[in-house]
Order: sequence, then C-alpha cells, then structure tokens
Amino acid sequence: MTSYSAFYRQSIEQPDAFWTEEARLVDWYKPFHQVCDYSRPPFAKWFVGGETNLCHNAVDRHAAARPHDAALIYVSTETGHEITYSFAELKAEVMCMAAIMQSLGVGRGDRVLIYMPMIPEAAFAMLACARIGAVHSVVFGGFAPHSLALRIDDAQPMLIVSAEAGIRNGKEIPYKHLLDEAIELSQMPPNRVLMIDRGLHKGWNKVAGRDVDYETLRAEHRYAEVPVTWLESSEPSYILYTSGTTGKPKGVQRDTGGYCVALASSMKRIYCGEAGETMFTTSDIGWVVGHSYIVYGPLIAGMATIMYEGLPINPDPGIWWRLVEKYRVSVMFSSPTAIRVLKKHDPAWLKKSDLSSLKHLFLAGEPLDQPTHEWIMSGLDRPVIDNYWQTETGWPILSSVHGVEKTEIRYGTPAFAVYGYKLKIFREDGTECDANEKGIVGIEPPLPPGCLSTVWGDDERFVRTYFSLFKEPLVYSSFDWGIRDEDGYHYILGRTDDVINVAGHRLGTREIEEAIQSHPAIAEVAVVGVKDEVKGQMPVAFAVVRDAARIATAELCKALEKEVMLAVDATLGAIGRPSRVHFVGGLPKTRSGKMLRRSIQAIAEGRDPGDLSTLDDPNTLANIKALLG
Ligand code: ATP
Ligand code: MG
Repeated sequence: MTSYSAFYRQSIEQPDAFWTEEARLVDWYKPFHQVCDYSRPPFAKWFVGGETNLCHNAVDRHAAARPHDAALIYVSTETGHEITYSFAELKAEVMCMAAIMQSLGVGRGDRVLIYMPMIPEAAFAMLACARIGAVHSVVFGGFAPHSLALRIDDAQPMLIVSAEAGIRNGKEIPYKHLLDEAIELSQMPPNRVLMIDRGLHKGWNKVAGRDVDYETLRAEHRYAEVPVTWLESSEPSYILYTSGTTGKPKGVQRDTGGYCVALASSMKRIYCGEAGETMFTTSDIGWVVGHSYIVYGPLIAGMATIMYEGLPINPDPGIWWRLVEKYRVSVMFSSPTAIRVLKKHDPAWLKKSDLSSLKHLFLAGEPLDQPTHEWIMSGLDRPVIDNYWQTETGWPILSSVHGVEKTEIRYGTPAFAVYGYKLKIFREDGTECDANEKGIVGIEPPLPPGCLSTVWGDDERFVRTYFSLFKEPLVYSSFDWGIRDEDGYHYILGRTDDVINVAGHRLGTREIEEAIQSHPAIAEVAVVGVKDEVKGQMPVAFAVVRDAARIATAELCKALEKEVMLAVDATLGAIGRPSRVHFVGGLPKTRSGKMLRRSIQAIAEGRDPGDLSTLDDPNTLANIKALLG
C-alpha cells in the first residue's frame, strides 16, 4: 500500500497521469484526448473528447456481467414496502422510464424536474434521464410551492415527474397539490407532468392534457429497448441546489465524465466498497449525498444500494441496524444529525443486530462533535469516518482515505485533503495560513473532476460567487472557516458568514458550540454573534436540554446557564463565553438538517430573517422570536 501523502502528492503534481489512471474505473465509448482543459480559468473541463454515460456505468455494464445480483433495494417503513431489483430488472425499469420520457418529447439536453418521495421510480427517473442525456433537477420532496416554482423557472423543464403524495412519520404530504400550486406560480410551466400513483391519496387532481399516468404508459413501454446516448464528458448530467443555509440556494451544474470518474474513484479509495456488496446511505435523493451515494456511486461500483423511506427511529431505533444485518451492508453513510437523534435512545439498540458485514460508517453534512463521534464509534465498534464536502463538489473534500492508507481517526476532524483538491487555508489577504492558524478553507483551481462545472445558466454568478475571495490568487472559496494542524488534520470551525468577532478575537461558531456541548445537560446548541456596542459582537447561545427537568424553574435555568458559561470558560477561555444562554425546545434547521444560524442571528438583531424557503419547522424560529420578545 502506498502512503496517502505520496498518493495525494501525485494527484497534485501529476494530475494528468493520476486521473488517467482513475478514469480506467469507468467505461468510455470514445476515449478522451485531453485530461483537463483549463484554458478558461476558473472553468475546467475534464476528460475532453471522451464519451461516456452515467447510466451505462451504473446499470448496463453490471447488468451484462452480473444480471441477477441485487442493484436497488427499496425499503419503506412508512408503507411497509420492501423490494429488491436486480441489475437486469433495474435496467428494464430504467429503459421503460426512458422510453416514456422520449414518448413525451424529452431528448438530449432537455431538463426533467423530479419532485418525488423516496420511491424506486425516483431512481428510475434519474437514471433514465442520464440514459438519454436529459438533465435532471431533483427537488427535495415536500418543498413549498414558492420554492418549487423558483426551481421550475430556473431549470425550465420540459417534463416534471412526481407522485401524488409523500409520507413522513405516518403523515401524508400532498405532493401533487403542492406541485399544482407551484406550476400555477411558475412563469415557465412544463408541458407534461408524469404522475406516479402510489395509491396513498385517492382522488388527486388530474389536469387534462398535461398530467399523464405512469402505469398506463408503463404498460405500453414495458419491454422497450432504449440504447444509451453517449455524451461528451462535459455535457451536463444534472442541476442540484445547495441547501440554502447561508442564503439563496445556488443551482450547481454537474458534468458527466468527471463526475463518473470522481464517484468511481471515491467508491474505491474513500468508501472501500466492492462490487457485490451493499451500501446503505440514509440521505434523501433530493440532496447531493443522495445523488452521489444512494444512486450513482454505489451502482457505478457494482454495489447494491438501499433506498430507505422512513425515520431512523420508526418502528424503533434499531431499524437501520436490522437492515445492515438483513442485507449484509458493508458501507454505511449517514449524517451527524441522524446519529444525534439515535443518541437520544438506548445504546443497546446498536448491539441487537449482527453488524459483522459493516466495514465503515461515514458521516457528512455538519460538524461531527466529539461526544457524538465517540458514542457511535464505540457503540458500533467500527471506524466512523467524518467527511467534509459540499453540494458544489459532489464528493468529499476532506476525509480519511482508508482505501489508500488506514490513517488514524481523530475526533473533531474530517482529516486530510482528498486527492485532487489543492486545499489551503487562507488569510484575509490571500496569503496562506501557518499550521494551527485560523483562516478560510479554499481550493486552488482547477477544481478536481466531479465538482460543479458552473452555476446553471449563470457563468458570471459562478465566478462572482466562488472565485472572488481575493484579487490574487484565484481561489475557490468554501465559505467555511478552519484550521490545519501540523499533522495535516483539518478542523472546520464554522461558516465564514457566522464567524464571531469579539473584541478583535475571531471565533468560529463550532468552537463555542463544542464547548457548550461538552456540558452533559445539553443535547444541541446554536451560537450566533449578536451586535454589541462595546465588543463589536457577543456570542449568544440557544440550547436544547436533554431533560426538561433541568430547566423546570427560573432558578434552575439561571443555574444551568451559569454552568454552561463556566464550561465555555474552561475550554475556550472567557473570550468565548456567551453573553446569554437561552433554553429552547428546538432549533431552526434546513430540511437537510443544517442549523440555520443566520435566521437566529437576524431575529436576535431585530432584522428580517431573509430567505426561509428551506426552513424545516417554522415553529422553532417563531418560538425564539417570542422568547426574545
Ligand atoms: P448554502 O450553500 O446554500 O448556504 P449549504 O452550504 O448548507 O447551503 P450544502 O452544500 O448542503 O449546502 O452543505 C455544505 C456545507 O455543510 C459545508 O460548506 C459545511 O459548512 C457543512 N459541512 C458539510 N460536511 C461537514 C463536516 N463534515 N464538518 C463540518 N461541516 C460540514
Ligand atoms: Mg454552501
């Protein structure tokens, strides 16, 4: 085994040779003649002239070699459905869906918006688009009409694929109704809506001339043979919006060849998944993790993938581990948020199933605090690997790369820069930070394969948003704040927008939040910087307690607030001490589970909270507003 540092160095110093080797993990219909065209910075084109197809690599090549192996395993604890599709069956379903799309006029380069719950047809639709060269835009199911309408207008889809309803914790979400309202609001309504009827909601409104029924068309195209459309490597595969944690979501445009290579490579080097094994990613197809590691990544690697509709604690907190046992899951991928939910329950649930097949658990999306990391790693007795990445990049930026070298896992850090990323920590003036010095996490372009090619329909916004951090040098800004220690381990300290400046000392929200979380009474916390006449800004904390009894009276609240402040003093010093610790019932988060600090800060400063289209539970914010009077 080579050392990871040598492997990383090769990727940076000899990118052409390095990526030519990685590109062998993918089938090419026509070979590329140039590894990277970077003649128009910061735009990069990977594997120029090469022709390939994501669906071919994810489905067809495995259907030919191992037709009867499991490909898609669908489990819904909401409806009780559980079904396995082999690669051959998946191919047939995808071809049928592709034929239906073609019959509705969809062709290469046309957009298809997918607004669907976690049902197999959502994966069929994504893969069918990839097959015929259509560009999908998956919008998280349950987004409100206004948010959906904006995404319809941005993508201008020829077709929308949807279902009549979603279901969460037994509660129905009326997708079709929300969709009809969104189309009403849209300036660019689609010609056709392909409706999958799950049989959950009877009597949904069918718009004549526009809405067509999947089951009827499926019967017609059941045995269709639809050849793949070979695409030039840079042709777009999909559009996907960022979570909107820091403002208006950005429509990320992904290419075809670079993404395919990055995913194939990451499945081998980072996730250590082998063909014939099973991967279980607990995300939703509406997020980047769902795109890369529910649908495309595992299938490209020839693995079976589990698509799960339901909560981690229904019917009980052991459900995920039973699935690991039943389907012999070897690679699992989830989020710190989900693990924090499980952590509220008895750890004995982790021990009830046979987890011998499981090699690693990966977590991404939010900072992984040490108590949560320790809890899950000791509970599972497996390496739990923190991944840091973004919708923009499509695959990890920071990770332990266990498929190359089994480096030590440390708490609180997603470890090393992933190969291909020229990742540096920058000072405000564009110079590079020393070890252990806080700064902005940036990437020197060209960005590696797999990362966004541009912002959909807006090259100018791509450059302005991501590459205007400094006049010189040209750097991609992650908008995150972090440090690298002398061993090369990285720590993400929070969003650059959220950095709190107390009397000239700059503190990441994460630093203070971790200090507060070290207090055993605290389940969850958000810290924001609030304007202060004397110190510039003061940290203010909003915390959820594990046990409501700790805050039953005003005296108890005061006492706990004091204890929390002392906990911060002990770890960070008085400079990080929040001026107030407010106890709340819940914290505002995006639908993908990310803390919406900017909305709390705005409320605390008496400002308008801005775009809240991705806010999951408006009550959380309303309660904070009421609390602050
Ligand atoms: P928007 O860009 O619209 O504001 P967003 O940044 O939340 O939304 P995503 O692309 O879903 O959209 O999230 C990426 C961000 O999530 C990262 O920039 C980082 O702030 C955070 N993040 C992801 N993984 C980790 C991790 N392992 N540790 C710390 N932070 C993480
Ligand atoms: Mg972001």
